[in-house]
Amino acid sequence: TIKKLIAGNWKMNGGLAANEALLRALLTGVGQPSADVAVCAPAPYLAQVQGLLAGSPIDWGAQDMSAHEQGAYTGEVSAAMLKDFGCRYAIVGHSERRQYHGETDALVAAKAQRALAAGITPIVCVGETLVEREAEQTEAVVKRQLAAVIHAVAHCTSEIVVAYEPVWAIGTGKTATPEQAQQVHAVLRAQLAAATSHPERVRILYGGSMNAANAASLLAQPDIDGGLIGGASLKAPDFLQIVAAAH
Ligand code: 13P
Repeated sequence: TIKKLIAGNWKMNGGLAANEALLRALLTGVGQPSADVAVCAPAPYLAQVQGLLAGSPIDWGAQDMSAHEQGAYTGEVSAAMLKDFGCRYAIVGHSERRQYHGETDALVAAKAQRALAAGITPIVCVGETLVEREAEQTEAVVKRQLAAVIHAVAHCTSEIVVAYEPVWAIGTGKTATPEQAQQVHAVLRAQLAAATSHPERVRILYGGSMNAANAASLLAQPDIDGGLIGGASLKAPDFLQIVAAAH
């Protein structure tokens, strides 16, 4: 069976003092987790996160990265820069990037490819909006989003993570039911199995209002290999409870 992954996405939250308090509490409480555990911090804090987490059971990553290798791209952060600060993961294609920054499937695929080339595991986010779900477009949307990435990385044998994050469940307190999530995860799993050479190296996380109370039932689904946690990752007790539910 696949080792689960519980990853926190802090989004644009935190600060030096708050991060340190949160990370110290996580380090105190995490013990020897049976799942992989990671936090994805804002870029300016990656050095701080590395300093506090290096050598611990908690990995770290970024929330986005450039599709370009280097050069005249003001404001962008490259995969090599993330690698310099020990990032194991980079989230790419989060719905907030797709919505507010116009990121296309092709750009997300380019970012995933760039991450893999630098030895960083991309956490590729897919998910439908409420309008798309109500129009019964969920499967078509997530398949299209994943296909773009699969096409770009088909021959890659490195670890990849896919996160199914229904947009209507993000930050809303409205979680997909375990059955709703499992149904989409099964579709993604089948698509990965058919198109990649190492489907067993792809973990499929659920994200969207996952919390200490609902984590266990989501993580019990056969095709849910972990969680991508927003709001609840900012509170150490909540995040640690989700980690404890993943085995
Ligand atoms: P919430 O857990 O706050 O709903 O956010 C989910 C998410 O977008 C993680 O990337």
